[in-house]
Amino acid sequence: MKSFHPPRRTLMGPGPSDVNPRILEALSRPTIGHLDPAFIAMMDDMKDLLQYALQTRNAITMPVSAPGSAGMETCFVNLVEPGDKVVVCQNGVFGGRMKENVERCGAEAVMVQDTWGAAVDANKLEDTLKAHPDAKIVAFVHAETSTGVCSDVKTLVEIARRHDCLTIVDAVTSLGGIPLHVDDWRIDAIYSGTQKCLSCTPGLSPVSFSEAAVEKIRNRKHPVQSWFMDLNLVMGYWGSGGKRAYHHTAPINALYGLHEALLILKEEGLEQAWARHEHHYRALKAGIEAMGLSYVVEESVRLPQLNAIRIPAGVDDATVRRQLLEQYQLEIGAGLGEMAGKVWRIGLMGHACNARNVLTCLGALDDVLSRLGAPIDSGKAVAAASKVLFPQS
Ligand SMILES: *Cc1c(COP(=O)(O)O)cnc(C)c1O
Repeated sequence: MKSFHPPRRTLMGPGPSDVNPRILEALSRPTIGHLDPAFIAMMDDMKDLLQYALQTRNAITMPVSAPGSAGMETCFVNLVEPGDKVVVCQNGVFGGRMKENVERCGAEAVMVQDTWGAAVDANKLEDTLKAHPDAKIVAFVHAETSTGVCSDVKTLVEIARRHDCLTIVDAVTSLGGIPLHVDDWRIDAIYSGTQKCLSCTPGLSPVSFSEAAVEKIRNRKHPVQSWFMDLNLVMGYWGSGGKRAYHHTAPINALYGLHEALLILKEEGLEQAWARHEHHYRALKAGIEAMGLSYVVEESVRLPQLNAIRIPAGVDDATVRRQLLEQYQLEIGAGLGEMAGKVWRIGLMGHACNARNVLTCLGALDDVLSRLGAPIDSGKAVAAASKVLFPQS
């Protein structure tokens, strides 16, 4: 046995994305006690930074000490009570997980199904809420990572509010990559992740709850079934100004990393980060199309940070991804669920969203596909992307 030294890769899949070296350095700083005044001051800063990233003033804004899936579960177990009716809009893998969560809370999930690769249909949500006036919560995914689709959060929340429903929004892949305004859009509960467009290490899940959501949690008839995720208990630790009572040992160093990641986002500026994702997506798209490959998702609802590309006929998915990894140290994502074997998912997330990665990925794909005899227009992708990246030269 010897120490583990991972190979150096370029991460352009659906997450984790390349971690900024500044974050890796922050993670290696000395561990201190989680009730140390210096640590508590860092937590206060972290809350400000998270409120900025999410564009909210919600007092209950904090990172759950576990990955995005635990942030999802935190929202559901706290807001959903046994017997509640919850409308879940599904247009990919992650909406399906929301249904699982609702049912495990002893509640009923009413599904609004949309085609994989399409956005959530606002009219279908409206019709479903008319047919189920007793529904209490609406849940949906902002950026569906399994297909690369962006749904219109603002409109969906407006509809939910008109029908007196609270909303739970999955922003795991959207945070830091595309516009997201928790307060302006009046989202009640939101969860995200650290390893997508924040480019931090995986394992933490920022969440935020509106006053209406906190009110519902405080007035529950049944205790939250999860002790660890019960916000009534966690709020004692993260709550503002209050005493920081021991709940669980915070993942101290992981939180240093998230603090640094959020600081990097703040230094760049949210709008600039969103624009950077859009710009590099345009370059990647130019290259993909020049090669003769095509996108799964219609242009108007595409996520810049997650590009679902159709695998050309006769090309073996796993062979291409293996060669990219072995020969180019490049990771791209496979299709999930019903898209398995049919698409590649190319991420341009956070620190990984840069010109070098766009060019590396296009050059590598062009080379590997050409050598496998795939039906592509080879030798054009990199030039098409550089035209977008460097229009002056
Ligand atoms: C990645 C992802 C999750 C799950 O996050 P983990 O950190 O893997 O638990 C949930 N929802 C969406 C949309 C995601 O992309």
